Amino acid sequence: MGLLTVDLNAVIANWRLLGRTVGSCVSAVIKADAYGLGANEVGSALYTEGCRDFFFATLKEAIDSRAYLSLDANCYVLHGVVTGEEHLFSRHKLIPVLSSITAIKVWVEWCWNFKNNNPSLPCVLKIDTGMTRLGLSAIELAEFCSSKGILSRINPVVLMSHLACSDDANHPQNITQLQSFNEAAAMLKKYFPQILLSIANSSGVFLGSDYHKDMVRTGAALYGLHPTKDMDSAIKPVVSLDLPIIRLRVINTKVGVGYGAEHVALEGQVLAVVAGGYADGLHRILGCNGTGYCRGVSVPVVGRISMDAIIFDVTKVPDILSWLTTDASCIPFSVEVINPILNISMLSQKNSSLGYEVLTSLSSGRYQRRYLLGGEERFV
Ligand SMILES: *Cc1c(COP(=O)(O)O)cnc(C)c1O
Repeated sequence: MGLLTVDLNAVIANWRLLGRTVGSCVSAVIKADAYGLGANEVGSALYTEGCRDFFFATLKEAIDSRAYLSLDANCYVLHGVVTGEEHLFSRHKLIPVLSSITAIKVWVEWCWNFKNNNPSLPCVLKIDTGMTRLGLSAIELAEFCSSKGILSRINPVVLMSHLACSDDANHPQNITQLQSFNEAAAMLKKYFPQILLSIANSSGVFLGSDYHKDMVRTGAALYGLHPTKDMDSAIKPVVSLDLPIIRLRVINTKVGVGYGAEHVALEGQVLAVVAGGYADGLHRILGCNGTGYCRGVSVPVVGRISMDAIIFDVTKVPDILSWLTTDASCIPFSVEVINPILNISMLSQKNSSLGYEVLTSLSSGRYQRRYLLGGEERFV
């Protein structure tokens, strides 16, 4: 099966680079299994580097993280809390991100009954400044600020919001969201002077220091996705993916290739069938007109991607014919579909897909994983 290499040294280098850029706390967003790369490995490596703030989407992801993150790591749950699950936050020392008045009331009431509110457990308040997804609306925020019962019983440690258009530095919504956020922050600081502020995701970091606040929440950039349209940013690539060749064949007469015979191969063409297909997320990674690299040569996909196999035209690979009769397990090269040149940002731009989707589709794979950390490599 394919070999997915995750360079944790590069993740660490990216985290440090972000730290130098913002000069404030760089939290790691390791939801969705660190975008498919392994929350355990990424989280542990960053913890060792000194990262103490980690964001998860679901409660389960955050609970599972306690197997690799000590209790001094702040673990935030973006989906927040619902009735019946409050005790799990307390038991695992997790911090809910509260995004509606309803959720706030559920949390405050439970904390009050459970702890006699002395002291109240920490939480994060999330306000909506233009994403219109999660977060308190302006009306809800006003209700919050006018409710003495809530204000006196809640312990919000962070006020956050999320940018909808940060990957486009010229989008006017960035500045309107920042202004709304600043206004809300000024209001809340009156009640909670210690509250930390956070608005930027990876791309937000590159909108300038006005967006940095006390904490940024970065996922994509840690994993090697270029956070801006500038493909030359110093963010290091993290992922590479090699697919083993399981069959080499030379075509001796014009013939259809793959399902639907969509491609027609001609005499003399050399085809490599590799292990991996759409069941491994590869249709997302390769898109239409997919290419890979084989011994330094760019090789196109031919025919349709099937569930477990993809066919590449390797005719141009030097000396390829000399390997025709070699047992597949002894072929010492593979087809690279993600490498430093075909990196995730490049691939997503080429396929006009989202780098995030390309990354997370890796998790569905049957890949062997290789983690690089320090001078060591570890296979999982
Ligand atoms: C996923 C997520 C992030 C991380 O965004 P990146 O663009 O990957 O850096 C930050 N904040 C919130 C609320 C998120 O849901």
